[in-house]
Amino acid sequence: MQPGDQYLLLPGPTQVPERVMRAMSSPMINHRGPKFKLLLEEVLEGIKQIHQSSGQVLIYPASGTGAMEAAVVNFISPGDRVLAVSIGAFGNRFAEIASRFGAEVEKLDFEWGCPADPEAIRKRLEEDEKRTIKAVLITHNETSTGVFNDLARIRALTSWHPALFLVDAVSSLAAIELKMDEWKLDVVVSGSQKAFMIPPGLSFLAYNEKAFEVYKQNKNHRFYWDIDFALRYLCKGQTPVTPPISLYFGMHEALKMMMEEGVSNVIARHYGYRDLVRTSAQAMGLNLLAADECASTAVTAVVAPPALGANKIRQYMLENFNIVLAGGQEHLDNVIFRIGHLGYVRELDLLTVVAALEITMRHFDYEGRMGAGVTAAQNCLLSKYR
Ligand SMILES: *Cc1c(COP(=O)(O)O)cnc(C)c1O
Repeated sequence: MQPGDQYLLLPGPTQVPERVMRAMSSPMINHRGPKFKLLLEEVLEGIKQIHQSSGQVLIYPASGTGAMEAAVVNFISPGDRVLAVSIGAFGNRFAEIASRFGAEVEKLDFEWGCPADPEAIRKRLEEDEKRTIKAVLITHNETSTGVFNDLARIRALTSWHPALFLVDAVSSLAAIELKMDEWKLDVVVSGSQKAFMIPPGLSFLAYNEKAFEVYKQNKNHRFYWDIDFALRYLCKGQTPVTPPISLYFGMHEALKMMMEEGVSNVIARHYGYRDLVRTSAQAMGLNLLAADECASTAVTAVVAPPALGANKIRQYMLENFNIVLAGGQEHLDNVIFRIGHLGYVRELDLLTVVAALEITMRHFDYEGRMGAGVTAAQNCLLSKYR
């Protein structure tokens, strides 16, 4: 980090490591040549490993929403009944995409800040005696609230139902454990700019055999997102459209970094970030939106003192310390601020954020002992390194 550099603590885009930046500055190569073929193969292999999947992965030049749309147009047909589980803004987005492409969407909404109730999902699927629900949409980590859904438990209760299970894992992959095969997740979508540590622009669609069978019968319109279009080129080690080669170089390097560290260590590191941020905020007397059991390892939503509001805090942090935090979305605007701690994060940067937050709160005459948050953060690190 250089003096004057910004502390970018958003839940995407996230900071990009120097190694990845350097890899991305490599000269262009022929995307129909042997070097790209090898690059593509290695990148796909790495992504599958992170999904803990033996299925297929496709890469699209797009933001995460692109892969969500790809999932809908390849696996859901117009008129299909779809159960869309939503615990926040991104759950709503998935439902909206399915609805725009002609699905008959039934929402199963949970309060923002809470996870989905696995029993409620099971119950709804049990009521579907004729098995007319074709797909279930769900967010793994709801970035708007900092809550994650317990997919292992939900699938343990629901995998008897034939509906395809489609997961938005854009902000969870590589930050929260996800076992695609073991948990019987049929389709998983993700994007490059969150825990993968590279800039925005790549999105990933992973699917299993069961989903592929459904795809073969699918009647939706598509061109860019079509799976067969991609597969016809993939067998030659190519992509149907010109790939963003620089991002592939970056992804290759980022995956190499993750493999060097060990994927399970990468995930474990995120649990440490979460605990540090939450413990410190609580030591400062601040409230957290999510309960401990469902608190995201990727992003923490802190509830601002209502009289002050979250946006003044964010503005002060930006103007005085060059620290960028995310705000709340929709009705949580000015209610919460969100600290992103996924991807390339150094724990001492989080300590800096806690220290700056304490100064900020003191500036606004918020009660609480200055240093309480930093001490809590230091104790988290001490117990780790002891
Ligand atoms: C970031 C994000 C997306 C996709 O956002 P894009 O801006 O399209 O990359 C989708 N779902 C979740 C949960 C996200 O965090």
